[in-house]
Amino acid sequence: MILSVTMNPSVDMSYPLEEFHLDTTNRIDSGKVRKTAGGKGLNVSRVLHLLEADVCSTGIIGGQLGGYIQKELDKDKMNHHFLEIDQESRNCLAILHNGKQTEILESGPVIDQQTQDDFLELFQKLLKEANILTISGSLPKGIPANFYSQLIELAASKQIPTILDCSGQALKESLSGKTKPTVIKPNHHELGALIGEELAENNEDIYQALQHPIFNGVELILVSMGAKGAFVKYKNDYYSLTIPKINVVNPVGSGDSTVAGIAYGLENKMALTDILKSAMTTGMLNTMEEKTGFIRKENFDYYFNQVSIQTYEREASL
Ligand code: ATP
Repeated sequence: MILSVTMNPSVDMSYPLEEFHLDTTNRIDSGKVRKTAGGKGLNVSRVLHLLEADVCSTGIIGGQLGGYIQKELDKDKMNHHFLEIDQESRNCLAILHNGKQTEILESGPVIDQQTQDDFLELFQKLLKEANILTISGSLPKGIPANFYSQLIELAASKQIPTILDCSGQALKESLSGKTKPTVIKPNHHELGALIGEELAENNEDIYQALQHPIFNGVELILVSMGAKGAFVKYKNDYYSLTIPKINVVNPVGSGDSTVAGIAYGLENKMALTDILKSAMTTGMLNTMEEKTGFIRKENFDYYFNQVSIQTYEREASL
């Protein structure tokens, strides 16, 4: 089973407006409003579920919104086991207007030490059934930035590989921990933020950035670059992944879908090249759909076969 962690899930509400007017009333047909179980890890879980993988979602959830999230997962027949608390889970709003997206993200509940300990107890129980761990998204207030290191260490003590997809301080702290995540999937902005540099979507710049000692000990680093595919460091080898031109409908959630593709590849004991192709394929399939964190499995093989992988030959490219 793949265990997928979302520490701060949300009810995501999206309002597609023709135009967005500030400082006045905006109206919308209720039928156009979309209300979904959100949080990056739940996107990962949904894509894995659509790939028919055995996945369980966990994290901390509460109140009526927490109940709504669980019902939505039940409706989709997605397996979940959250720690339930008295505080309300959060709402996150996305207003889509004029090809732009304005977001309002609540911070969610504040998690005290006892609740963190309770979660760790549940997590260790769930880990007994798991052979791959994915951790996605930000931490709720009250949880220290190094919390993911505890999850990574518990997983590593059972030889369970961890795919970590977060940013900012939580990512920095996780990379500074005693036990490193097995896989990370930053985009070029997140990679740059880690080392205090602005990075372009350029293989040589990313190669240079990956020489920073903070990345030592992470087995696989997939730096995703949207339509340009990805740049990969695996142990001491480097690869450039290129993908075909496709018709993009909604790219939001592509990073999460990429994480799902990596987990799917690991779960199915694929060779490295196929894991990388799987990651690119699920990312692409997500961009082709209106819904966030959604793919059509029937299109998997077609796009998988169009991903190309080149060893990054530095001398030749300089
Ligand atoms: P998000 O934060 O929206 O989840 P991200 O920045 O983490 O995304 P991206 O690098 O944008 O991740 O996308 C991940 C993968 O999805 C890419 O490596 C690629 O396979 C696919 N993808 C994303 N955008 C496009 C696009 N415009 N065309 C083709 N494939 C895309």
